[in-house]
Amino acid sequence: MTHAAVTDRVHVRAPGKLNLFFQVGGVQDDGYHEVASAYQAVSLYENVWATPSDEFTVMISGTVDLAGVPADDRNLAVRAARLVAQRIGHRGGVHLDIVKNVPVAGGMGGGSADAAAALVACDALWGAELGTAELHKLAARLGADVPFALMGGTAIGTGRGDQLSPALAKGRFDWVIVPPAGEGLSTPEVYAHLDTLRGEHDIAAVAERPEVAPAVLHALRAGDPVALAEHTRNDLQAAALSLRPGLREALELGERSGALAGMVSGSGPTLAFLTGDPESALELQVTLSAAGLEALHVHGPVTGARVVGL
Ligand code: ATP
Repeated sequence: MTHAAVTDRVHVRAPGKLNLFFQVGGVQDDGYHEVASAYQAVSLYENVWATPSDEFTVMISGTVDLAGVPADDRNLAVRAARLVAQRIGHRGGVHLDIVKNVPVAGGMGGGSADAAAALVACDALWGAELGTAELHKLAARLGADVPFALMGGTAIGTGRGDQLSPALAKGRFDWVIVPPAGEGLSTPEVYAHLDTLRGEHDIAAVAERPEVAPAVLHALRAGDPVALAEHTRNDLQAAALSLRPGLREALELGERSGALAGMVSGSGPTLAFLTGDPESALELQVTLSAAGLEALHVHGPVTGARVVGL
């Protein structure tokens, strides 16, 4: 089957994510951990432009340190494009222009957002009309966080984090994030360190079946950041802090300076502070900036990967 290009250029935007709750179970036989996660998509976006090409190529630019982002077939967005081409039997390639705003290896799923954006962009560029369910299947093959970047909003993820169900969230939640000042953290390294810490401290009480605390779902439904702050959790935080002890100071500063809760985002080292409203977020942003930290005010939930221009 051949699919003619239906347009010359597609622009897709996909959000970064925060984990409001992240419980990590024991390591499975296949080496993966079973997790229970509450994700929220936030207003820090990756932008991907797709144009027809004979080959699969990628150019990366952005507002964040791009070190470590592969500009070849290892790039998750290129892998996503190839997957769509393979699925529909498209003979040509695509050129992807990626403009990154989500910190690289920062625990906010930037690579996953690029992959989700590339899936949506190629689907539109090649007129494939694969539909949500099919795109979700392709997303799950690319990585545990890709389906959520496609879906956006607020959701619960189980299994490897990729078995998603939408969660009802009222209103908006205001966050201040502090991107890593230096190098990011590798997600597998953080998981491995968590296993080491659990072994050393003989932590046997790892949940068989991790589950998002019902109180988190209630707080989201009620649109209540104060209640949510009481129940945020991230099992990867101890490992991320142990690998980057310098993060503690910023975490404590944020917590002392009006944040309702402060946490490491996913596998880190980005920090996320939950605030009560936009004004409090702005105040916290000013305080953290005055201390020499980069601080960004974002809000969630926002929609997943979407075409914003043809
Ligand atoms: P997650 O929270 O989903 O584990 P992360 O936000 O910590 O991910 P990413 O920025 O998504 O980390 O990427 C982690 C690694 O993936 C990078 O260090 C890089 O080697 C590789 N990678 C592949 N494609 C991309 C991409 N498009 N953008 C960023 N990194 C990519």
